[in-house]
Amino acid sequence: MLGTLGAALVDIVGREHVITDADVMASYLVDWTGRWRGQASLVVRPGSTAEVVAVVKTCAHAGVAMVPQGGNTGLVGGSVPARGHGAAGPVVVSLVRLQRRDEVDVAAAQVTVGAGVTLARLQGHVADAHVGLAFGVDLGARDSATVGGLVATNAGGIHFVRYGGMRQQVAGVEVVLADGEVFSRLDGLAKDNSGYDLAGLMTGSEGTLGVITAARLRLVPDLPCRVTALLGLAGTAAAIDVVVALRRDVPALEAAEIFYQEGLELVCRHARLAAPIAGRWGAYLLVECAGTDADSLAGALFRCLTAAGVDEEATAVATEVAGRRQLWAFRERHAEAINNLGVPHKLDVSLPLGKLAAFVPAVHQAVAGVAPEATTIVFGHAGDGNLHVNVVGPAPDDDGVDDAVFRLVAELGGSISAEHGIGRAKIGWLHLTRSAADIAAMQAIKGALDPHGQFNPGVLLPPV
Ligand SMILES: Cc1cc2nc3c(=O)[nH]c(=O)nc-3n(C[C@H](O)[C@H](O)[C@H](O)COP(=O)(O)OP(=O)(O)OC[C@H]3O[C@@H](n4cnc5c(N)ncnc54)[C@H](O)[C@@H]3O)c2cc1C
Repeated sequence: MLGTLGAALVDIVGREHVITDADVMASYLVDWTGRWRGQASLVVRPGSTAEVVAVVKTCAHAGVAMVPQGGNTGLVGGSVPARGHGAAGPVVVSLVRLQRRDEVDVAAAQVTVGAGVTLARLQGHVADAHVGLAFGVDLGARDSATVGGLVATNAGGIHFVRYGGMRQQVAGVEVVLADGEVFSRLDGLAKDNSGYDLAGLMTGSEGTLGVITAARLRLVPDLPCRVTALLGLAGTAAAIDVVVALRRDVPALEAAEIFYQEGLELVCRHARLAAPIAGRWGAYLLVECAGTDADSLAGALFRCLTAAGVDEEATAVATEVAGRRQLWAFRERHAEAINNLGVPHKLDVSLPLGKLAAFVPAVHQAVAGVAPEATTIVFGHAGDGNLHVNVVGPAPDDDGVDDAVFRLVAELGGSISAEHGIGRAKIGWLHLTRSAADIAAMQAIKGALDPHGQFNPGVLLPPV
């Protein structure tokens, strides 16, 4: 049943882009982990900025809330509506049809793309231009995650240690606001101090301030040579020592990812892979360097690893694409291997680097204290002090482990969200990371830009 709102939306986007069939809608209403499920009245898929404007005005006029959605790979429940609305629920606004891909601007080293372009397609678009440029953010969900979602979550990813996250790459955005007005800052000026940084404000806004329809993105030099090494180390403290040495002595360092024995064994079982290094190790560190000369890269990397006392016998190295992919699989296949165990509680946290070694045993203990039967798998971006604590066992709506982990993180001076955002999953703990004044300021911004609370209600901010 389309109803009045559905009929009005069909007039804007066409019948095939208004989805009301429950089976077809299902995949838009559950997140990647299966932990977050919701209900919506329909899904609408606008194909241009003008159509987004018309959709936003129509929903606003009808007093219906909107949930912007990209690739639906977000891990904090922000991309799916909440439960309990039934057919009167919000509208999911899927942006995947916004596929604008402008020519790469070589002089500015920037490119403008639509919100629905996936990260992999963006990477391919820039590579196909053959102008020696690349995009600086990369992550495991690259085939589905969209530019709009990456901007809206201020995604971090595996190259953060070198290039920073999305905030560092966003030179401008085009956004449709709650009243249907469009603000567009896509000129990509290198310097522009003419007022508030609205693109910066939208970066990390999690769909609560407007619908991002396009982004102007900075590009980095495309580095043709890469050396990847997987190291077996005594434990987290040893891994952090290596990361600190690499960050200091090897400017070509592009990734420093950590995982542990239980995660490695799980991935090996799940993906039918043989262990990459003999023996059992207290921590595994995957490092990658990128540059223009393979020999000097490898030389700098090995001098640093030798000086740091890394055991050569416990090191696997690859320079060719296939070998490097194989080493990355041990890290990147953690997420799917964990999902295969059951619905995970995915707790993405960051800590001061000096506290990481104490945090790892403490978090296992904290989880065991509230959920003794749970399986806890930790992995993450060691270079940024960012760990993903994955807990399988407790029911999706049992947030006892979330509470225990977030309180531990707060005690150690960390953040309850390193890169995934707050979404629906972490609203109850926002006060552990942000002060009352911070939250009031964010609520004031929300109230000014979305006075009727129509974008993503129940995400990021507690109700006023
Ligand atoms: C295997 C795997 C690996 C991952 N690795 C990383 C990682 O290394 N680093 C990292 O940071 N994240 C990672 N993620 C999380 C996820 O990929 C990112 O959060 C990504 O940015 C989400 O993009 P998306 O298009 O899927 O957004 P969605 O999941 O669709 O949405 C995420 C949020 O953005 C909002 N949003 C989406 N599109 C728009 C838009 N056009 N306008 C306004 N708001 C919008 C939604 O409302 C929601 O709040 C990973 C996820 C998976 C499944």
